[in-house]
Amino acid sequence: MGVADKIKEFKEELPCGVEMVAVSKFHPVSKILEAYEAGQRLFGESRVQEFLEKEKTLPKDIRWHFIGHLQSNKVKQLIGKTAIIESIDSEKLLNLINAESVKAGVVTEVLLQIHVAAEETKFGFSVEEAEDFFNKKIYTRYPYVKIRGLMGMATNTDDEERVKKDFSTLHNLFEKIRSKRYPDLEDFDRLSMGMSGDWKLAVAEGSNIIRIGSAIFGERN
Ligand SMILES: *Cc1c(COP(=O)(O)O)cnc(C)c1O
Repeated sequence: MGVADKIKEFKEELPCGVEMVAVSKFHPVSKILEAYEAGQRLFGESRVQEFLEKEKTLPKDIRWHFIGHLQSNKVKQLIGKTAIIESIDSEKLLNLINAESVKAGVVTEVLLQIHVAAEETKFGFSVEEAEDFFNKKIYTRYPYVKIRGLMGMATNTDDEERVKKDFSTLHNLFEKIRSKRYPDLEDFDRLSMGMSGDWKLAVAEGSNIIRIGSAIFGERN
Protein backbone atom coordinates (compact mmCIF):
# COMPACT_ATOMS: atom_id res chain seq x y z
CA MET A 1 0.00 0.00 0.00
CA GLY A 2 1.29 3.46 -0.90
CA VAL A 3 1.58 6.55 1.29
CA ALA A 4 -1.71 8.04 0.04
CA ASP A 5 -3.63 4.85 0.85
CA LYS A 6 -2.14 4.75 4.32
CA ILE A 7 -3.17 8.35 4.98
CA LYS A 8 -6.72 7.60 3.84
CA GLU A 9 -6.87 4.50 5.98
CA PHE A 10 -5.80 6.40 9.09
CA LYS A 11 -8.31 9.18 8.36
CA GLU A 12 -11.10 6.63 8.27
CA GLU A 13 -9.97 4.81 11.37
CA LEU A 14 -9.13 7.73 13.66
CA PRO A 15 -11.86 8.86 16.03
CA CYS A 16 -13.10 12.43 15.74
CA GLY A 17 -10.95 14.86 17.71
CA VAL A 18 -7.71 12.90 17.35
CA GLU A 19 -5.09 14.54 15.12
CA MET A 20 -2.39 12.62 13.31
CA VAL A 21 1.11 13.99 12.86
CA ALA A 22 2.71 12.28 9.86
CA VAL A 23 6.30 11.81 11.05
CA SER A 24 8.42 12.29 7.92
CA LYS A 25 11.91 12.28 9.46
CA PHE A 26 14.53 10.59 7.25
CA HIS A 27 12.01 10.40 4.39
CA PRO A 28 12.38 12.51 1.24
CA VAL A 29 10.25 15.50 0.24
CA SER A 30 8.68 13.38 -2.54
CA LYS A 31 7.07 11.12 0.08
CA ILE A 32 5.84 14.12 2.06
CA LEU A 33 4.21 15.42 -1.12
CA GLU A 34 2.45 12.09 -1.64
CA ALA A 35 0.91 12.46 1.80
CA TYR A 36 0.12 16.11 1.11
CA GLU A 37 -1.68 15.23 -2.10
CA ALA A 38 -3.76 12.78 -0.08
CA GLY A 39 -4.86 15.65 2.16
CA GLN A 40 -2.37 15.45 5.02
CA ARG A 41 -1.36 18.89 6.33
CA LEU A 42 0.27 18.08 9.67
CA PHE A 43 3.82 16.70 9.65
CA GLY A 44 6.50 16.00 12.24
CA GLU A 45 10.28 16.26 12.07
CA SER A 46 12.90 15.58 14.69
CA ARG A 47 16.09 17.25 13.44
CA VAL A 48 16.37 21.00 12.95
CA GLN A 49 18.59 20.98 9.86
CA GLU A 50 16.54 18.36 8.06
CA PHE A 51 13.33 20.17 8.99
CA LEU A 52 14.55 23.54 7.69
CA GLU A 53 15.67 22.07 4.38
CA LYS A 54 12.34 20.37 3.81
CA GLU A 55 10.21 23.21 5.10
CA LYS A 56 11.53 25.79 2.67
CA THR A 57 10.62 23.76 -0.41
CA LEU A 58 7.22 22.49 0.73
CA PRO A 59 3.75 24.12 0.58
CA LYS A 60 3.20 26.83 3.16
CA ASP A 61 -0.08 25.46 4.43
CA ILE A 62 1.70 22.52 6.05
CA ARG A 63 1.70 22.69 9.86
CA TRP A 64 4.86 21.33 11.43
CA HIS A 65 5.36 19.75 14.82
CA PHE A 66 8.93 19.49 16.00
CA ILE A 67 9.22 16.24 17.97
CA GLY A 68 12.94 15.60 18.48
CA HIS A 69 15.37 16.56 21.21
CA LEU A 70 16.11 20.25 20.66
CA GLN A 71 19.59 21.60 21.27
CA SER A 72 19.92 25.10 22.69
CA ASN A 73 21.96 26.41 19.78
CA LYS A 74 19.25 25.40 17.29
CA VAL A 75 16.30 27.09 18.99
CA LYS A 76 16.57 30.39 17.16
CA GLN A 77 16.26 28.75 13.72
CA LEU A 78 13.00 27.05 14.66
CA ILE A 79 11.12 30.05 16.03
CA GLY A 80 8.19 31.10 13.87
CA LYS A 81 8.31 27.96 11.74
CA THR A 82 6.44 25.43 13.88
CA ALA A 83 2.82 25.00 14.88
CA ILE A 84 3.94 23.20 18.04
CA ILE A 85 7.29 22.18 19.49
CA GLU A 86 6.31 18.95 21.24
CA SER A 87 9.62 18.08 22.83
CA ILE A 88 10.26 20.59 25.61
CA ASP A 89 12.39 18.66 28.07
CA SER A 90 13.91 21.37 30.29
CA GLU A 91 13.25 24.80 31.75
CA LYS A 92 16.42 25.99 30.12
CA LEU A 93 14.88 25.26 26.74
CA LEU A 94 11.68 27.10 27.68
CA ASN A 95 13.71 30.09 28.75
CA LEU A 96 15.55 30.17 25.42
CA ILE A 97 12.39 29.71 23.38
CA ASN A 98 10.78 32.52 25.33
CA ALA A 99 13.73 34.84 24.70
CA GLU A 100 13.86 34.07 20.97
CA SER A 101 10.07 34.41 20.67
CA VAL A 102 10.23 37.87 22.27
CA LYS A 103 12.84 38.91 19.71
CA ALA A 104 10.80 37.52 16.83
CA GLY A 105 7.55 38.97 18.17
CA VAL A 106 5.75 35.64 18.20
CA VAL A 107 4.19 33.36 20.77
CA THR A 108 5.52 29.80 20.43
CA GLU A 109 3.21 26.90 21.20
CA VAL A 110 4.77 23.92 22.91
CA LEU A 111 4.09 20.66 24.73
CA LEU A 112 6.07 19.52 27.74
CA GLN A 113 7.68 16.15 27.18
CA ILE A 114 7.10 13.80 30.10
CA HIS A 115 9.33 10.85 30.78
CA VAL A 116 7.43 7.77 31.91
CA ALA A 117 9.09 4.98 29.92
CA ALA A 118 11.42 2.46 31.45
CA GLU A 119 14.27 3.51 29.15
CA GLU A 120 16.74 5.70 30.98
CA THR A 121 17.98 7.46 27.89
CA LYS A 122 14.71 9.21 27.07
CA PHE A 123 14.41 12.96 27.60
CA GLY A 124 11.71 14.77 29.53
CA PHE A 125 10.32 15.99 32.83
CA SER A 126 9.37 13.40 35.42
CA VAL A 127 5.75 13.41 36.61
CA GLU A 128 6.86 15.03 39.87
CA GLU A 129 8.88 17.72 38.11
CA ALA A 130 5.93 18.52 35.88
CA GLU A 131 3.53 18.79 38.82
CA ASP A 132 5.94 21.10 40.55
CA PHE A 133 6.31 23.18 37.40
CA PHE A 134 2.57 23.85 37.26
CA ASN A 135 1.92 24.11 40.99
CA LYS A 136 4.58 26.78 41.32
CA LYS A 137 3.26 28.41 38.13
CA ILE A 138 6.76 28.46 36.72
CA TYR A 139 5.26 28.67 33.24
CA THR A 140 4.22 32.27 33.96
CA ARG A 141 7.89 33.21 33.66
CA TYR A 142 7.63 32.49 29.93
CA PRO A 143 4.83 34.70 28.57
CA TYR A 144 5.91 34.24 24.94
CA VAL A 145 5.54 30.48 25.23
CA LYS A 146 2.10 28.92 25.28
CA ILE A 147 1.99 25.48 26.85
CA ARG A 148 -0.67 23.54 24.97
CA GLY A 149 -0.29 20.23 26.77
CA LEU A 150 1.90 17.18 27.23
CA MET A 151 3.79 14.72 25.03
CA GLY A 152 5.14 11.35 26.02
CA MET A 153 6.30 7.96 24.87
CA ALA A 154 5.51 4.59 26.36
CA THR A 155 8.15 2.00 27.13
CA ASN A 156 9.38 0.24 24.00
CA THR A 157 8.09 -3.24 24.83
CA ASP A 158 5.65 -5.93 23.66
CA ASP A 159 4.15 -5.94 27.14
CA GLU A 160 0.79 -4.24 26.49
CA GLU A 161 0.07 -3.80 30.17
CA ARG A 162 3.23 -1.77 30.64
CA VAL A 163 2.41 0.39 27.60
CA LYS A 164 -1.13 0.97 28.87
CA LYS A 165 0.20 1.87 32.28
CA ASP A 166 2.60 4.45 30.80
CA PHE A 167 -0.18 6.04 28.74
CA SER A 168 -2.52 6.09 31.68
CA THR A 169 0.17 7.77 33.83
CA LEU A 170 0.46 10.48 31.17
CA HIS A 171 -3.31 10.84 30.87
CA ASN A 172 -3.76 11.13 34.63
CA LEU A 173 -1.12 13.83 34.84
CA PHE A 174 -2.74 15.69 31.94
CA GLU A 175 -6.19 15.57 33.57
CA LYS A 176 -4.81 16.54 36.95
CA ILE A 177 -3.17 19.67 35.53
CA ARG A 178 -6.31 20.56 33.58
CA SER A 179 -8.57 20.08 36.57
CA LYS A 180 -6.65 22.71 38.54
CA ARG A 181 -7.70 25.41 36.08
CA TYR A 182 -4.49 27.34 36.43
CA PRO A 183 -4.64 30.95 35.30
CA ASP A 184 -3.15 31.58 31.83
CA LEU A 185 -3.40 27.91 30.97
CA GLU A 186 -6.78 27.96 29.26
CA ASP A 187 -5.45 26.34 26.08
CA PHE A 188 -3.89 23.38 27.82
CA ASP A 189 -5.82 20.74 25.86
CA ARG A 190 -3.35 18.58 23.88
CA LEU A 191 -2.12 15.16 24.86
CA SER A 192 0.33 13.75 22.31
CA MET A 193 0.97 10.04 22.73
CA GLY A 194 1.03 7.01 20.47
CA MET A 195 3.25 5.99 17.55
CA SER A 196 2.94 3.39 14.78
CA GLY A 197 3.15 0.41 17.14
CA ASP A 198 1.00 1.62 20.01
CA TRP A 199 -1.36 4.38 18.85
CA LYS A 200 -4.53 2.36 19.42
CA LEU A 201 -3.65 1.87 23.07
CA ALA A 202 -2.78 5.58 23.31
CA VAL A 203 -6.10 6.71 21.83
CA ALA A 204 -7.95 4.35 24.18
CA GLU A 205 -6.09 6.09 27.04
CA GLY A 206 -7.13 9.59 25.97
CA SER A 207 -4.53 10.74 23.43
CA ASN A 208 -5.65 13.47 21.00
CA ILE A 209 -2.45 13.69 18.94
CA ILE A 210 -0.78 10.59 17.54
CA ARG A 211 2.62 10.68 15.84
CA ILE A 212 2.84 8.14 13.03
CA GLY A 213 5.99 7.53 11.00
CA SER A 214 6.76 4.03 9.77
CA ALA A 215 3.11 2.93 9.45
CA ILE A 216 2.68 5.64 6.79
CA PHE A 217 6.09 6.01 5.15
CA GLY A 218 7.64 2.60 5.75
CA GLU A 219 10.87 1.83 7.54
CA ARG A 220 13.48 4.57 7.95
CA ASN A 221 17.04 4.07 6.74
C1 LIG B 1 10.17 8.87 15.13
C2 LIG B 1 9.18 9.30 16.13
C3 LIG B 1 7.83 8.91 16.03
C4 LIG B 1 7.29 8.00 14.95
O1 LIG B 1 7.66 6.69 15.21
P1 LIG B 1 7.05 5.47 14.36
O2 LIG B 1 7.25 4.30 15.24
O3 LIG B 1 7.83 5.40 13.09
O4 LIG B 1 5.61 5.78 14.11
C5 LIG B 1 6.95 9.40 17.00
N1 LIG B 1 7.36 10.20 17.99
C6 LIG B 1 8.64 10.59 18.12
C7 LIG B 1 9.01 11.47 19.25
C8 LIG B 1 9.59 10.15 17.20
O5 LIG B 1 10.87 10.52 17.35
